[in-house]
Amino acid sequence: NAMMPNWLMQRANLTPERPAFETDGDIISFRMLWEQVYELAGKLASLGIRKNDHVALLSGNSLDLVRFFHALMAIGAVGVPLNTRLSIEEQVWEIEDSKASWLIFDDKNHLFNSAANEPRLFHRISISQVKRQSHSEVKLQAEFSLDAPCTMIYTSGTTGKPKGVVLTFGNHWWSAAGSALNLGLTETDKWYCCVPLFHVSGLSLLMKNVIYGMPVVLAKKFDPHEANQMICKNGVTMISVVANMLRRMLDDLGTASYPDAFRCMLLGGGPAPLPLLQRSRQKKIPVYQTYGLTETASQMVTLPPEFMFSKLGSAGKPLFHGEIRIIKEDRVADPGEAGEIQVRGMNVSPGYWNHPETADRTFSGGWLRTGDIGYLDTDDFLYVLDRRDDLIISGGENVYPAEIESVLLAFPDVEEAGVIGVKDEQWGEVPFAFVHMKPERTVSEKDILDFCQKKLARYQLPVGIQFTGLLPRNASRKLLRRKLVDRLPKEFS
Ligand code: AMP
Ligand code: MG
Ligand code: MG
Repeated sequence: NAMMPNWLMQRANLTPERPAFETDGDIISFRMLWEQVYELAGKLASLGIRKNDHVALLSGNSLDLVRFFHALMAIGAVGVPLNTRLSIEEQVWEIEDSKASWLIFDDKNHLFNSAANEPRLFHRISISQVKRQSHSEVKLQAEFSLDAPCTMIYTSGTTGKPKGVVLTFGNHWWSAAGSALNLGLTETDKWYCCVPLFHVSGLSLLMKNVIYGMPVVLAKKFDPHEANQMICKNGVTMISVVANMLRRMLDDLGTASYPDAFRCMLLGGGPAPLPLLQRSRQKKIPVYQTYGLTETASQMVTLPPEFMFSKLGSAGKPLFHGEIRIIKEDRVADPGEAGEIQVRGMNVSPGYWNHPETADRTFSGGWLRTGDIGYLDTDDFLYVLDRRDDLIISGGENVYPAEIESVLLAFPDVEEAGVIGVKDEQWGEVPFAFVHMKPERTVSEKDILDFCQKKLARYQLPVGIQFTGLLPRNASRKLLRRKLVDRLPKEFS
């Protein structure tokens, strides 16, 4: 059972005066962060929170949330961050499923206050109330056990209830270490966090922050102009984005360009549309495409910029300690053959909370069955096609919505595109497209279909195009295709 010094304590010991976080113009050092976390841990202990307890956290990005995560780690309690965008019922469901003893919420989520009299299986308290607590003596974890659970993040598949993904200290450690071996780490690195800390994309930055001793600029929310300012004027060298965020940053950037010191645009979370990669190349932006899941503690597979075009659209190769394989009908697929992507590595979750039955089915022999379809080329580069659940099977042909969306996005002035399958008597299922145009731009369905016809096979051609407002996205700005069903015109639904 491998042990390691408490990360924040160790970091405050090694490089106390280095800046840890920058937010709203304030800078705090690792020493200050550790002092604050030490004090906060005592307040949490006075509430009776102890080692191994589960504690739900409901908060947008803030330094407070950072402190709470670390304080729970120091106590040995497991932080269960909740998506602030969910409905109260969904949040309550996750809290109860996680068996959290406490819910701690920020002021924006005060709805939990007015519902305070409702009987619940858990205690609740606001962040400001916790700060007013007195301090109890508590023995903090001077060491972390790599096998112990550290956090639990709920993730929803396209069907069924969300499941809590347990991530151990070891998972977070190897994720951070693997990422540094992959992207490199320099003295001047500064990472901009404009993704939610309650998702693994943001949470992994909180871990890298202490493990690397690297300053993180924490944004409350994503704003493309602010993100560009941070890169151009505030020395940010790395940023994590999904495609939709990168597109908006490019729109804002206009004819300007990024300084040479900016070295990594980590692009993940979903498919990278070709037109976006082309625009990025024109701007000489160092895009690292990446594939990862909550279950892999973020990054699992990454494509360095030098392969951006020779391996166009590939998500790259695994982190140093990781492996990928493609399984088709219970055998390892040949190069070029599509099948389920399975991954293995020290960053892969040991399983879902309270779902022992998924251990065999989902995590067999250390291999995580991702539920995504993809293939490896002859040089072992991974190409992610789509989620298995979103696959459209039309007349026996596999149709990947992501491929059609990428073509639609190449049409001038198409800002967003989403494709789902609709029932069809002859073909079983056929693709249907939703398109959001730039403001004031109009175009006919026929123009777009004529364009698609040149780039897609017949069975990939959408049977209809619905012009619509902004597409539904989750808190990480990933497209929620299943919600598009509600926008289908009558004749297709
Ligand atoms: P989450 O369930 O929120 O942890 O997100 C993980 C899912 O995002 C994966 O299972 C994929 O379906 C999708 N995803 C992540 N990275 C990529 C990528 N580079 N290309 C395509 N899909 C991706
Ligand atoms: Mg998700
Ligand atoms: Mg998932």
